[in-house]
Amino acid sequence: MRGTMMQYPLTLVHLFERAEKFFPDSEIVSRLPDRSLHRYAYADFCRRVRALGGALRRMGLKRGDRVATLMWNHHVHLEAYFAIPCAGGVLHTLNLRLHPDDIAYIASHAGDRFLIVDDVLLPLYEKLRGKASFEKVIVVPLTGSAVPAGYEDYEKLVARGRPWKMRVPKEEDAAGMCYTSGTTGRPKGVVYTHRALVLHSLASALPDVLGLANADVVCPVVPMFHVNAWGTPFTAVMVGAKIVFPGPHLDPVNLLDLYEQERVTVTAGVPTIWSGILRALEEEPEGWKLAAGMRMVVGGAAAPESMIRAFDAFGLRVIHGWGMTETTPVAAVNYVKPGLSALPEEERYALRAKQGVPLPFVEARARSEQGEVPWDGQAMGELEVRGPWVAAAYHELADESDKWTDDGWFRTGDVVTIDRHGYIKITDRIKDLVKSGGEWISSVDLENALAGHPKVAEAAVIAVPHPKWGERPLAVVVLKSGQKADAGELRDFLAAKFAQFWVPDAVAFADQIPRTSTGKMMKATLREQYKDWKV
Ligand code: AMP
Repeated sequence: MRGTMMQYPLTLVHLFERAEKFFPDSEIVSRLPDRSLHRYAYADFCRRVRALGGALRRMGLKRGDRVATLMWNHHVHLEAYFAIPCAGGVLHTLNLRLHPDDIAYIASHAGDRFLIVDDVLLPLYEKLRGKASFEKVIVVPLTGSAVPAGYEDYEKLVARGRPWKMRVPKEEDAAGMCYTSGTTGRPKGVVYTHRALVLHSLASALPDVLGLANADVVCPVVPMFHVNAWGTPFTAVMVGAKIVFPGPHLDPVNLLDLYEQERVTVTAGVPTIWSGILRALEEEPEGWKLAAGMRMVVGGAAAPESMIRAFDAFGLRVIHGWGMTETTPVAAVNYVKPGLSALPEEERYALRAKQGVPLPFVEARARSEQGEVPWDGQAMGELEVRGPWVAAAYHELADESDKWTDDGWFRTGDVVTIDRHGYIKITDRIKDLVKSGGEWISSVDLENALAGHPKVAEAAVIAVPHPKWGERPLAVVVLKSGQKADAGELRDFLAAKFAQFWVPDAVAFADQIPRTSTGKMMKATLREQYKDWKV
């Protein structure tokens, strides 16, 4: 028997038109480069989206054409987020923290036709202009200065742009595109369909995921150039929430001021941002009156247990999630099932530091050489996922097909355990594993434990070659300012928590841990730096 339902396309046009109809009064606030706040209502946002879409069409934008953005998080970037895909184009967010040569490579590889760039980022654009060619460069005059000759002025385009009637794309049409940040090798492009972005938005809004609702005030700190700020701009517009953008000002004090002033209820970012916020709160505990129970979505790297505990003490709730560029990105989120909420404190925090359970429609399994690993919270295997917002290929990179299994699962490169309740815990990237005497040691577990030591600011654990054991772990530790500690003290601290063979034989003290533009530790650089270390 056939169903009798409509074939209704899942596209961003619907999310946009719904917001236009039902939420004209919701607010969008942006911190501008001069630190002033720009605010307008969804009604203005929607009018400008239509005007920009019309202007792009008149410039010759055709279905599937890529339009790049080189922008901070603000309302104009949000306009591009909707205008480009709703006009049939593909929103390609460029990572402004990359080296100009890499940005140029990515823009050329993606075949970007147009670029929209913040005026404050023109000096960066100048560094790549000879290396990537855009037909037109549209400059957003965020500072109010005149747009230099040779560029299109975004504001003039929008002022001239006549609204056009959006044509509903096919749900399988490309809507967005992002390149992996990659700790090694060339970045790889992932192309998101309308359908994937819509389903991802619906799932993200679920109470046990990010729980975004109309009454929320959403502040994406995670850059809009990094996997669509984890989809939060799309999801927030879908539900008509107030949105608050930090612009280029990502220092803890600016963020805390913004949270307080605009009554932010949910914010999202990588752990390095939250470490800074935590230090600011600890230095000035009465400094800010934040919305009670503000949710802080943490992902991109592991949230140490000590961080979750520390925010709890301030009445702020960490939501730990896992995802990748290839998974749009949210694929697993941690919430405590009611049956587990009565666990003793230690176990409850250990549970909350896990990356969580897969979202509806995301299937996950872990496999080792022996096959699928049991859900015992011990056995480690590579995490494989599949689902409607998981990539099936990279953009024009055929030689990467071994990233997918023959039966269509995506090999994440993350090594995990899964416990009997289905909670996934990331123990390592495959290439960062420490294999000592044939046994795997989780560098992430050791790092998170070290981060909980009162004198430690941050720590990385890497494998160094060893004549007897093959590899042994070496801890590279950055101490909090003014603190002194020796290797013995830190090793004793770990010995109380881990099997003896897990404890690093040595500790190297450093001034900082090198990180990528998206907050991930550059372990390959560290391994190179310490390759001759004798443990
Ligand atoms: P990217 O594609 O740049 O977002 O990087 C994805 C990778 O970041 C994943 O494969 C993980 O290795 C890592 N990652 C993301 N979220 C977490 C998390 N909550 N804990 C540990 N690692 C994470």
